[in-house]
Amino acid sequence: MQVILLGLPGAGKGTQAAWIVEDFGLPHISTGDMFRAAAKGESQVSGEIRSYIEGGLLVPDELTIRIVRDRIAQDDAKEGFLLDGFPRTRPQAQALDNMLAEVGRPLSRVIYLEVGREELLRRLGGRWVCPGCGATYHAVFQPPRSAGVCNECGTALQQRADDRPDAVRVRLEQNWDNTQSLVAFYEARGVLTRLAGDQPIDRVRRAIRAALRGDGQ
Ligand code: ADP
Ligand code: AMP
Repeated sequence: MQVILLGLPGAGKGTQAAWIVEDFGLPHISTGDMFRAAAKGESQVSGEIRSYIEGGLLVPDELTIRIVRDRIAQDDAKEGFLLDGFPRTRPQAQALDNMLAEVGRPLSRVIYLEVGREELLRRLGGRWVCPGCGATYHAVFQPPRSAGVCNECGTALQQRADDRPDAVRVRLEQNWDNTQSLVAFYEARGVLTRLAGDQPIDRVRRAIRAALRGDGQ
C-alpha cells in the first residue's frame, strides 16, 4: 500500500498519519520530520535546511527527492508506506512516479485533506508539538490532558519555529499553487480522494479509514 496524505500546512496530515500507520502497519515518511531532524546537525547542509524551514520556504526539490528516494529504498518501506508532506511540487510528484515505476509498485491512493485558509491559520496558531515523541496537540481543538505536557511521554510541549505568523503566511502562499497543481495531477490519474478536512478529528479519521478500505468513495 503506497499512500500519500496531501494538504496545506495545518490540514491535519500529521494528526491523521499517527493512527493510519498503526492501523495499516505502514512506515510514516514525513519529509518535515526528516528535515527537522537533519536541521539539528552542525554541517553546512543542516544550516541550510534550518534556514529554509525557519523562513517557511520549501527545501529545493533535488535534495528533497534524494532523501525520499533513500528512505523508500529501506527495508521497512518495501511493503508500502505513508507519505506525509511529500510530494509538494510537480517535479517531486514526477520523481515519485519514476521511483515507483522502477520498483513496479503503483500509488494506492492520494488522500487530499481540504481545509480553508482561516481554519488553517487557527490550527497553526494553536499547534503544540512534543519534541520527545512527535505527538501533535492544539491549544483548543486537541489539548493535552495536563497543560503544556505530552500525554504520551510527559515531555514539555513546544511551538514550532515555523508556526510564527510571518512564516505561516509564506508557507501558505508557497504551498497554495503547488497543492492545487498536485490535486489536478493525481485527479487526472484517478487516485485522488478529496475529503473535507475541516471536520472534527474523529470524523476526518472515519472518512480516511473508509477511503483506504475502498468503501467510502
Ligand atoms: P499538518 O501535519 O497537515 O501540518 P497537523 O496534523 O500538525 O497538520 O495539524 C495542525 C494543527 O491542527 C494541530 O494543532 C492539530 O492538533 C490540529 N488539528 C488537526 N486536525 C484537526 C481537526 N480535524 N480539527 C481541528 N484541529 C485539528
Ligand atoms: P511540514 O512538517 O510538512 O510542515 O514541513 C516543514 C518544512 O519542511 C517545510 O516548510 C519545508 O521547509 C520543509 N519540507 C517538508 N517537506 C518538504 C517537501 N516535500 N519539499 C520541500 N520542502 C519540504
